[in-house]
Amino acid sequence: MASSFDCLSVRPERALLDTCMTQQTVVIIGAGQAGLQVVATLREGRYEGRLVLVGDEPHAPYQRPPLSKGYLLGETPLEQVMLRPAQFFSQHAIELIQGKRAISVDRASRRVRFEDAFELEYDHLVLATGARNRPLQVPGADLQNVFYLRGLEEARALKAQLVAGKRVVVIGAGFIGLEFAASAIKHGLDVTVLDVADRPMARAVSRTMSAIFAREHAKLGMKLRFNTQVARLLGERGQVHAVETVEGQLLPADLVVIGIGVLPNVELAAGCQLTVDDGIVVDELMQTCDSNISAIGDVAAHVSAYSYGQRVRLESVQNAVDQARCVAARILGKAATYQAVPWFWSHQGPLALQMTGLPSLQCDEVVRGDPSGTACSVFSFHAGQLAYVESLNRAGDHILSRRLLGSRIALTPEQAADPGFELKSLLARAAR
Ligand code: FAD
Ligand code: NAP
Repeated sequence: MASSFDCLSVRPERALLDTCMTQQTVVIIGAGQAGLQVVATLREGRYEGRLVLVGDEPHAPYQRPPLSKGYLLGETPLEQVMLRPAQFFSQHAIELIQGKRAISVDRASRRVRFEDAFELEYDHLVLATGARNRPLQVPGADLQNVFYLRGLEEARALKAQLVAGKRVVVIGAGFIGLEFAASAIKHGLDVTVLDVADRPMARAVSRTMSAIFAREHAKLGMKLRFNTQVARLLGERGQVHAVETVEGQLLPADLVVIGIGVLPNVELAAGCQLTVDDGIVVDELMQTCDSNISAIGDVAAHVSAYSYGQRVRLESVQNAVDQARCVAARILGKAATYQAVPWFWSHQGPLALQMTGLPSLQCDEVVRGDPSGTACSVFSFHAGQLAYVESLNRAGDHILSRRLLGSRIALTPEQAADPGFELKSLLARAAR
């Protein structure tokens, strides 16, 4: 890790934290989940300096998780999608600037420059610029009725398409693809999902869990095709009408939804020579190689206490929120290394999946519960230690596993697999 931190640190003596909190300006670029959490935690901690939160979207900060689930299903109204009510920002003296894109950072003068030549000076800068959709690079990808799903506008456009009987081809059987597909099935659409991998959520979950999801989604009417690559999208009068696979098969489509992963928004950081390597590289305090600049959330690459020594970039609400809290604590003078246990969730129709820890390729698994049903957990062990737990419709296992991982309490594979063994007995024993 040390070798990645060789970029010039500008005025490190200004490393903010022990200096007066009343006169300083913290500028946060990116008004998403992570950016919002920085300003909220700073004000909760009675930070008295100037806070400027700048985002390039035309909206106040909102949550993304409902966009593929409750919002599409009409169960989560727009006001519940917003992370804070509009008055929150003025009530807490937070300058929220919407619809303004930062284009460069001058580290020597500690200034951020925006598209319209507007500039902001900072004492501390937080880069919370998130990620953007990875584009599908095939002919026809620019046809009408081809959608991605990251932002509110994209979700709005997709929601209008959810009409029973329409045929949708979803490209990518990751979280986005499957969550959208489950919502579309509920609306009565004819849904086909395809992926280049040989199983759903291949990078995120075990083969056991992938098999359960493939089976249960098929039962609900979803058509799943794996090891399938798209050659091109075919259109008529500018509008998509089929997806052609590399084998030459045609899948008719009234609409196409692409969810093939994301690319971190690292351009600002790269432009001012911060260290970038599939994300903005940060240390265990979420500090970049410039001590006046932190990076958090989807855009930040860090070595987690749970990532087997590897640098990772995690794309989840927990990661965005906890990294934001870590930076805010440091600005408030209570610096602590980032130790949070990673956890994730994905709701796909009746399938509520929760995951904690991080997967590794060298894991041994055991199953707790019945994998032929829809409630079980897969416990994965790395070098004999509990490493990753996936719980399907078993929230209790998830919560207890998070606590076991967080407190590093040893659990054996035999104990995990034994339905009569109470996981909470280990926590109770450790508390004694
Ligand atoms: P973002 O929320 O992406 O915010 C970054 C913001 O910065 C964006 O508004 C962006 O436009 C802005 N920005 C970028 N560059 C600039 C610039 N130069 N100037 C100004 N502004 C800029 N996670 C879960 O844990 N569970 C879920 O169920 C779940 N569901 C999801 C469903 C969907 C549809 C999506 C898209 C994501 C989901 N996630 C889920 C992931 C989660 O929402 C993200 O991990 C989280 O939003 C990351 O927060 P962030 O603040 O790092 O990035
Ligand atoms: P993802 O989880 O990375 O899944 C993308 C899938 O598409 C992968 O299986 C990928 O295979 C596959 N793929 C890549 N190129 C393809 C191609 N040309 N044709 C067919 N399949 C292809 O990403 P996502 O589902 O798009 O999600 C995007 C972001 O939203 C991520 O940040 C994700 O974490 C976040 N999100 C999170 C949640 C959650 O935590 N519950 C829910 C929704 C969204 P390879 O892996 O082999 O490339």
